[in-house]
Amino acid sequence: MPRPILATIHSAALRHNLERVRQAVPDAKLWAVVKANAYGHGIENVFEALRGADGFAMLDLAEAERVRQLGWRGPILLLEGVFEPRDLELCSRLSIWHAVHCDAQIDWLAAHKTQNGHRVFLKMNSGMNRLGFTPERYRAAWARLNALPQVEEISFMTHFSDADAGAGQPGISVQLQRFHDATRDLPGERSVGNSAATLRQGDDALVRCDWVRPGIVLYGSSPDYPQHTAAHWGLQPTQTLSSRIIGVQQLAAGDSVGYGSRFTADGPLRLGTVACGYADGYPRHCGTGTPVLVNGVRTRTLGRVSMDMLAVDLTPVPDAGMGSEVTLWGRAGNGAVLPIDEVAEAAGTLGYELMCAVAPRVNKTVD
Ligand SMILES: *Cc1c(COP(=O)(O)O)cnc(C)c1O
Repeated sequence: MPRPILATIHSAALRHNLERVRQAVPDAKLWAVVKANAYGHGIENVFEALRGADGFAMLDLAEAERVRQLGWRGPILLLEGVFEPRDLELCSRLSIWHAVHCDAQIDWLAAHKTQNGHRVFLKMNSGMNRLGFTPERYRAAWARLNALPQVEEISFMTHFSDADAGAGQPGISVQLQRFHDATRDLPGERSVGNSAATLRQGDDALVRCDWVRPGIVLYGSSPDYPQHTAAHWGLQPTQTLSSRIIGVQQLAAGDSVGYGSRFTADGPLRLGTVACGYADGYPRHCGTGTPVLVNGVRTRTLGRVSMDMLAVDLTPVPDAGMGSEVTLWGRAGNGAVLPIDEVAEAAGTLGYELMCAVAPRVNKTVD
């Protein structure tokens, strides 16, 4: 028998979350963002459930090919564009749309021989300062692209740095204004909204535009935790990381647990040892007190996470023992939910990082 740790991908939850985005922006088209192997879920594991999207967006040409191989004939978008001139051949052959964010990418297109006109998303750096043309240089980039016979259609995009901003913080308004000012009279479709902007401000036509680009919401994690929980947004967890108790210890007052003896019992305590550690992708930064479900009952971790194991307090679950179900995040057998965002918070990070980091040694199954 393999180690009992397992990642379960929930198709119904993926469909539900996609529908949730549709409701938020009913008249926008929707790119399902499946970069990073569908945020760690596996592109093949989410594809059927997300086919209701209008297109799939990712960074990696190999991932775009996989989506085509799964039979998707609709739009596919490379959010960072191509990384070398050769990539354009595959874009031509597989009709893959691509972002254009720098002059080199325009040079490569200009030198590219193709019969098939390319559809490109011209990326503006409206303040994130990662990729894209500044508003001042945007129009010149557009004019260059517009003059190329290789280019069939130009759309416009930008990406927000602060779409999850709290009350009193500036949020997206400055970037939104810059984007729309600089593209005002240019003909073409527009796309600006990530998950947070789409859920929070999708009722604003300038935010939803023609296309939204939700990622994290599809996977059931809140885009602006802890301001709002996944439950607040009506999202369901799409990934459950589960395992089992493979050992039980009875501690007395003064007994300590794990490497570095970071937890010491102040009285009698039953401890369960779980087959899950940081080599499975569970964060080592989670200290004592991180929430965890045993038989669907909420309890806490004890001491340091080791490579292959961690310890949980069985006090609230007296009937638990060898083989009992442990839910590290997601949905337990009894239906109880432990949001990935709560575990991420205990590790000082985001649900994004946890779901992407589940290790290859963890088997995945789809339900
Ligand atoms: C990752 C990404 C998204 C999706 O972001 P979420 O916060 O997961 O919704 C959208 N647009 C671009 C350009 C991205 O890189």
